[in-house]
Amino acid sequence: MPKQEQETASEEVVEVAPGVLRMQLPIWMPGLGHVNMYGLVDDRGLAVVDPGMPGPKSWRAVKARLRSAGYRVGDVHTVLVTHSHPDHFGCAGRLRKEAGAEVVAHRAFTTWTMDPRAAVSEAEAERVEEAAIRAAEGYRGPSADEAPSLAGGPGAPGDDDHGDDMEGRRRLAPWGGPTPWGGHHPAPALVHRMAYRAMRLLFSPPDPTRRVVHGASLRLAGRDWFAVHTPGHTLDHLCLWDPEGGVLLSGDHVLPTITPHIAGSPHGDSLHAYLVTLDLVASLDGVELGLPAHGHPFTDVPGRVEAIKEHHRERVEELRRASLALGPTGVQELSREVFPRRHWGVMAESETFSHLAHLRRAGEAERWEEGGRLVYRATPG
Ligand SMILES: [Zn+2]
Ligand SMILES: [Zn+2]
Repeated sequence: MPKQEQETASEEVVEVAPGVLRMQLPIWMPGLGHVNMYGLVDDRGLAVVDPGMPGPKSWRAVKARLRSAGYRVGDVHTVLVTHSHPDHFGCAGRLRKEAGAEVVAHRAFTTWTMDPRAAVSEAEAERVEEAAIRAAEGYRGPSADEAPSLAGGPGAPGDDDHGDDMEGRRRLAPWGGPTPWGGHHPAPALVHRMAYRAMRLLFSPPDPTRRVVHGASLRLAGRDWFAVHTPGHTLDHLCLWDPEGGVLLSGDHVLPTITPHIAGSPHGDSLHAYLVTLDLVASLDGVELGLPAHGHPFTDVPGRVEAIKEHHRERVEELRRASLALGPTGVQELSREVFPRRHWGVMAESETFSHLAHLRRAGEAERWEEGGRLVYRATPG
């Protein structure tokens, strides 16, 4: 049986919370069958969250779902993009163009296809991540009345920000190239390279009209929602919290049955950022419903958070043992120790890279450079 995140997109439109519609769009990503585009309805029309992949097929599905829900493209006044993956931002640019919709994303939102000058530098990325960690650790909920203090917490200016000077940042491009841990990741099959090329030529990624930071408030579906910055899966990931309705739009941060990929980065410790912001969303007061970007609505957000944390604890421990057994080793070799062969590749390496950074931060591994690649060794303890 497929996991619920792998189910093909249903054409049904379902109201999953007051004023919140679940509309499923087809996507073509490994291990996923659909993305949930949520419609948040108010007297001006509606806001949509995560409008699918780029391309005409996806656009037709967006229009069809809106029609089933009783809306036209022109009724979309806001598009919220939870993070910079193509199954989430795909039709945002087109909705901006055709409906004049405002496009809201995190301050650090950037995509492969954007002008490299718009990318976030490594130093900037580290600051963004550290701010999220401080804000998550400083959150002393839980009370819906305290929502404004979420905005005012340390490292959480709670205001819109249009970004600092930004310079190029090393990141993994889907069409192959160098990896931050040394070595090269091979280009995908020609057909995939052609598809990426077509995507880059034909579909410009959205340029957010409003870039928000942690704690920013957004008026959607007739009530106030708060942007909760949740880096880990990506640096720019946002969840949306509705204290009044007890709803958390969890994006890819918390999924019902699969654990999202944690992208390693040359800076900081993205797994640490992920774990503390998981704790943050689990501690938000009164959340009774999680609305994920893939899969069904779920009720026990803290329970799901605990299961995901346990998964990472086990995986990190497995990696530590593998590293102790092997001695000084590169990321690729270690990833092949802890992942089954069918998962070998750049995604497995990137996650291993993030887990190694986590061990290193905890003082349980050391790292040095050797022959142009990073070498790690777990320290016995
Ligand atoms: Zn994602
Ligand atoms: Zn996704």
